[in-house]
Amino acid sequence: MLDELDIATKAREFIRHCGPLALPVSVDAYAAQIGGTVVEDTLGEKEDAWSFREPSGKLHICVNCAQTPRRRRFSVCHEVAHVVLGIEPDHSAPSWSYARRSPGEIACDDFAAELLLPYKLFKPRVDSADMGLAAIGELADEFDASLQSTGSRFATFSRELCAFVVSEGGKISYSARSPRLREAKGWIRRGMPLPADSYSARVRAGEGLSSPEEAEPDQWFEDWQRDGVLIEDTRHLGKWDQTLTLLWFDDEELAPPAPERKQWEEDAYRLRELDGVLPWPGRSKRK
Ligand SMILES: [Zn+2]
Repeated sequence: MLDELDIATKAREFIRHCGPLALPVSVDAYAAQIGGTVVEDTLGEKEDAWSFREPSGKLHICVNCAQTPRRRRFSVCHEVAHVVLGIEPDHSAPSWSYARRSPGEIACDDFAAELLLPYKLFKPRVDSADMGLAAIGELADEFDASLQSTGSRFATFSRELCAFVVSEGGKISYSARSPRLREAKGWIRRGMPLPADSYSARVRAGEGLSSPEEAEPDQWFEDWQRDGVLIEDTRHLGKWDQTLTLLWFDDEELAPPAPERKQWEEDAYRLRELDGVLPWPGRSKRK
């Protein structure tokens, strides 16, 4: 099985072969790179996309016309991932459900996120963005990507102590943590219910959105011993009963800004990013 480093490397290699990047990236150009054309099709309600290759070598990527345009863009990148990584599709679980995805599908999602939110374009935006889901929403607009993909990559690349958490049916199904939060052992347990009375839980229960509010660190992080002011922002997507939460520490003393890296050498960055504490579902359990 490919690990996180292999996937990031292969995706970045693939992007380099596609030529100069513009924003938002062209998923048709990605498809064309592997001899594919994108067609919109009527698929099953929960189906995102499928592909087939003609004997002539021409690849057809069929995306579900009933899905939102952003979802279709992600689906094209996901199908490209299956071809480039050589992973057979296993589309038995719905793609919005992080909890039920197979490792191969998660690998393709990760490759797709790299294509849609390329490191070289996305990382500088993350560094200059404000904290909060409003800023992540603006980045999602700019990259024409979903809030889920954008939030996940935002936390993965953030220099702050922060986490992006996805919950389904009121239970945490996925979290992406920044390198500094991983170093600080800020563990968020998968399967845990949203903390009672948290901003996220209240918005899920129907309370209106207000501004980000202070949260209890030990309600979110296991065995959290450190001080610091934790801030929580949230959005609830009622259609899938999916709750998105951004958590970050807003405390200069606890969280001094990381030393400036003038030039993020890609290999050096990878070593830091991929420090063995993997953020992916099913691999983030405590030792
Ligand atoms: Zn797939």
